[in-house]
Amino acid sequence: MTWGAHRLRGWLSGMRSRRKEADLRHRALRILDRGDGRIEERKFGGDSHYRPLNGCAYLYFQVPLELLGTPLYVEIEYLGDAHGRFALQYPSSLKTGLEGDYLEARQHWSGNAGELHLRRCRYFLEDFDPSKTQNYGAHFRLYHPSDDWIRDVRVSPEPWPEMDGFPFSLERAEPRKSPGRFHKIQWLFLELTNLCNFSCTFCPDEIMTRRRGWMKTADVLALLDQIAEHREWLGPVHPIKLHQMGEPMIHRDIVPIVAHAERLGLGVELNTNASLLKSSLVEGLYKAGLNSFVLSYLNHTPQAFGTRKVKNKKLTFQEYRAGVEAAIETKFRLGSETRIQLHLANASAAAAFPQLISGESEARAELESWLEFGRRLEQEVGLEPSGLDARRILEGGILDRDELGSCVELLPGVSLLWKRIHSWGHALPGEAKEPGPAYCVVPYEQFVIQHNGDISVCCTDFDGGLVVGNLFEEGIEKIWRGKRLLELRREMFAGRLSNPVCRKCRGWD
Ligand code: SF4
Repeated sequence: MTWGAHRLRGWLSGMRSRRKEADLRHRALRILDRGDGRIEERKFGGDSHYRPLNGCAYLYFQVPLELLGTPLYVEIEYLGDAHGRFALQYPSSLKTGLEGDYLEARQHWSGNAGELHLRRCRYFLEDFDPSKTQNYGAHFRLYHPSDDWIRDVRVSPEPWPEMDGFPFSLERAEPRKSPGRFHKIQWLFLELTNLCNFSCTFCPDEIMTRRRGWMKTADVLALLDQIAEHREWLGPVHPIKLHQMGEPMIHRDIVPIVAHAERLGLGVELNTNASLLKSSLVEGLYKAGLNSFVLSYLNHTPQAFGTRKVKNKKLTFQEYRAGVEAAIETKFRLGSETRIQLHLANASAAAAFPQLISGESEARAELESWLEFGRRLEQEVGLEPSGLDARRILEGGILDRDELGSCVELLPGVSLLWKRIHSWGHALPGEAKEPGPAYCVVPYEQFVIQHNGDISVCCTDFDGGLVVGNLFEEGIEKIWRGKRLLELRREMFAGRLSNPVCRKCRGWD
């Protein structure tokens, strides 16, 4: 449903009487009320105000044709007590961002924070590209996870007559999610077991004191049913990961579990250390309709493979590599739709692990070897040559990019991604960093079900120090909307960190 002219006129009528520069042309601006941009409306002082409905994070705007052009000027009037609580994202002609073409606009505002009242902020979209639309045909959007109420949005192809009242500006607003609002679960982890046949030096497996075990198959299936009933609570990104700690392919019923999840339409991601890729098991997973297979290969030499500390000493590096290649080949032999992500280590910011790939020459050698593998497979199965070139891929320093930016499509449905080695919230040696802010977005986005049913709010919480409930005793709803999680979020929002796990971590590292 689009937000029709009738409601829009009502919204803009107050503005016309108050502001000289308000132009009737604005009447045609539309907010798209759909998807993750559904609208909630409330009256304040007789005027309608808007924000995304609980569980939604965006407001999407369409600009009328006669106002479309470069640059574009936007002004927003809102009821709030501070600035930077929402971010304007727009398609830019300069750069392709990670999330499609959206870039965040610099926000200008008056600077007085504290009291709740009507405020204004402005944006100057110098490189706005009117030819691009995204998300339901929107020309720009507001990322808006906070409590503020939007009263008015005005656009103009001409500069505002005065900017004196807007002396402050901020390049990236980085809005914070409001603790009191409902937010969708973006990352759901279901740990089948915390047992592992590896003990990698860059993993806290050896220092984990949590009781080792696995989840009974009947319990896994029942939890998957419960998750499926709450599907609308899940965000769009990889909803079900079958791990937190541990190696999920150790679970003897991994194939029926994947088949059950996929039958429910949950779309699981199986992230494996890639040491248990028996051909019958791999074929079973593909035939079960596995959505995403993450092969956490990471190594580039037998020495690097030594950092995995294989508990089954019989597995050599050559056998390990051959198993990974065979799993990829099997996908094409079976014509499987499963997406494969091959992870290589990026230890450039983790000096404690010098055996792993940390320099461009090592990265180039490893990349070349996988491109060579890709070319061979293209010939064997009759695929169009991708023409990938290592030099071009590495241009600009691939190890300096973030993980998504480092991703390369090696073959159709097979991508290669440089996984950053991190310190698990400073539990392991890693990059020394200044402490980050107390606020962390993770407890708003992650729901980590450990093998005994405990729910942690963070995937780096390997020892269960951030447990807020148990799913075998309480349902998803009670925990996700519950008091313990709310208290944790409120505390972080207010700048306090009483939990030792978060105090040590202070945000993603
Ligand atoms: S501060 Fe660290 S440990 Fe705490 S929730 Fe955020 S990422 Fe996890």
